[in-house]
Amino acid sequence: MRIGYIEVRSALSRSGLPDIDYALNPYAGCAHGCIYCYARLYTRPRDAAENWGSMVYVKRNLIEVLRREVKRFRRGVVGVGTITDPYQPIEVREVLTRRAIELLLENGFAVSIQTKSPLILRDLDILRSHPGRVDVGFTITSLDPEKARFIEPRAPDPRSRAAALKRIADACVETWIFLGPVIPGINSSMDEVVRIVELAAETGSKLLVDKLHVKRFMWGGPLEAYARRALRYPWRRFFEDVLRLCRDYGVRCIEGLAEPSEERSRGLATLDRYMR
Ligand code: SF4
Repeated sequence: MRIGYIEVRSALSRSGLPDIDYALNPYAGCAHGCIYCYARLYTRPRDAAENWGSMVYVKRNLIEVLRREVKRFRRGVVGVGTITDPYQPIEVREVLTRRAIELLLENGFAVSIQTKSPLILRDLDILRSHPGRVDVGFTITSLDPEKARFIEPRAPDPRSRAAALKRIADACVETWIFLGPVIPGINSSMDEVVRIVELAAETGSKLLVDKLHVKRFMWGGPLEAYARRALRYPWRRFFEDVLRLCRDYGVRCIEGLAEPSEERSRGLATLDRYMR
């Protein structure tokens, strides 16, 4: 893993979403290296985008810039990790996400965090101390570690994400699960989905479901065969089956059919916000 450092002029960017006011991403690039990750399309510097998963830039002056912005900007909801995972391994050393969240909450902002990493438990003290102003979403595409390793080679084991989700929900912090992308032939079986719906029911989490959005970078790589299948997949039927399942389990479920955009590259995490 190569690590670089960059200086930024702004920490918060406008999200353009109805109920997420700002986006904050402490790192450019992501060490988790998910093979389906759309974030490479929206990442600068280019070397991080072109070597997805092996080059991460740290926004060195993020906290300094954020400290000025929290005084000037109107209070609102900040999506943390709207492009890349804010709790990827470099966060252990840099502690940018923790410091940013602390600063935001102390200054009256709310945060909505999305991650694949149980490292977020390190910050549970902060998260639980601001009731009503924090929600945490875990991306769980499959609870099968083999499948997860194929599509998310360096992300934490999904069982550890589930365990972290339970601890956060137990601490009375609002939680949600992002099941996406659903890739036909990998994680599209109802057996697979049931396990995730059960987890949502157990933790009182909302479930957000998104399909695979086929992109040019998928051709010629390990996703190509699946991407071809996704183009012909009966998504409507799939989503209806998931909605029915969620109803049976009393889980609130939101399906996603929209293309991710730059501000919304964490996928359905944000589409949810358009819909609720
Ligand atoms: S999908 Fe998320 S966790 Fe995976 S590489 Fe992209 S930003 Fe990182």
